[in-house]
Amino acid sequence: MILLTGGAGYIGSHTATLLLNNGYDVVIADNFYNSTPDVIRFIGQITGKVFQVYNIDVTDKDALAQIFICNPIEAVIHFAGYKAIGESVQHPVKYYRNNIDSTLSLLETMNEYHVNHLIFSSSATVYGQSPIIPIPESAPTGHCINPYGWSKYFIEHILTDTANVSSNMSVVILRYFNPIGAHESGLIGERPNGVPNNLMPYITQTAAGIRNILHVFGNNYPTRDGTCVRDYIHVMDLAQGHISALEYLLGHRNHGNTEIFNLGTGKGYSVLEVIKTFELSTGIKIPFIFAPRRAGDVPECYADVKKAARLLGWSSRKTLADMCIDAWRWQEFCLKQHI
Ligand code: NAD
Ligand code: UDP
Repeated sequence: MILLTGGAGYIGSHTATLLLNNGYDVVIADNFYNSTPDVIRFIGQITGKVFQVYNIDVTDKDALAQIFICNPIEAVIHFAGYKAIGESVQHPVKYYRNNIDSTLSLLETMNEYHVNHLIFSSSATVYGQSPIIPIPESAPTGHCINPYGWSKYFIEHILTDTANVSSNMSVVILRYFNPIGAHESGLIGERPNGVPNNLMPYITQTAAGIRNILHVFGNNYPTRDGTCVRDYIHVMDLAQGHISALEYLLGHRNHGNTEIFNLGTGKGYSVLEVIKTFELSTGIKIPFIFAPRRAGDVPECYADVKKAARLLGWSSRKTLADMCIDAWRWQEFCLKQHI
């Protein structure tokens, strides 16, 4: 049985559907801080499977212990955390407290109940402005520019230190690039709170008429068209990366080990290329204007994905057009459901 902390969230819910459809038993722990219980119903509808859900705060060790007492947990995928970059700048203690505390509570409880396999959701943000592009896992980290990024950086170190001294523990750290898109059913997807900060939800909300115009932040970067380049990855490809990481963890006996993998496509697309692909694949025009650069944006960020291909046998499959079509189908569902 696999425990997903934060399993009702964007990436956790998509991973839950794949795990269930691949025959894994799943238990979800989420306090619904940034998700809603109807996601659980939709995971059930997509998979036709029944699974346990605990409405708990992962920082609460007593509540966590109950899950380990009542379920034969083999491995944990730790998605739970706060992720809004701007909010992390305004409320750093809140971010450090939740992201780091939840990880410490989880590690202590896993140790107590002899559960030794952990997958952690990290981020390409730990690379900052990498001197090497495409970015390999060996690129320098630690030039983070906000508390959210630092929380991922610190947790990576906490996990590495813990696995180093525990002969039983094995950890996989997954550094996600830019997850976008939604489940092909259109029933689950990302639900930004208020005005979206990220590009794809802003595009789909502009297409839906919720926003008037997209602001493209910066058109004088040293890139092919002057706008920033990112490695957008379909959330279902990302979910598949977790299944591959889990198979790797459960199939290997090299305990006391931490492995880090980039999960991206290895391809970079500019903001203007994303807009164009969205327009071509959905037939909807996106009105946009150029605006000043956004503080902290790096010109180019895309992954070297050879390590995941070599050791996990995983690589992304879906195209940017697939990502746009699925993101738009989800936006249309949200409109109909008044989400
Ligand atoms: P999300 O906010 O949609 O999901 C996180 C889930 O964790 C939510 O359902 C939330 O309610 C829950 N949660 C938060 N704190 C909790 C706590 N203390 N106890 C119980 N539940 C708690 O985020 P997501 O996009 O699915 O991201 C999942 C993980 O991946 C996060 O750790 C995030 O930082 C990381 N990540 C996300 C992205 C991205 O672009 N979405 C990129 C890189 C890394
Ligand atoms: N972006 C933009 N307008 C928006 C949101 C984002 O031009 O309304 C740009 C942003 O400057 C960056 C790219 O789109 O170059 C991806 O931004 P996002 O926030 O989605 O991802 P991240 O910056 O975290 O990689």
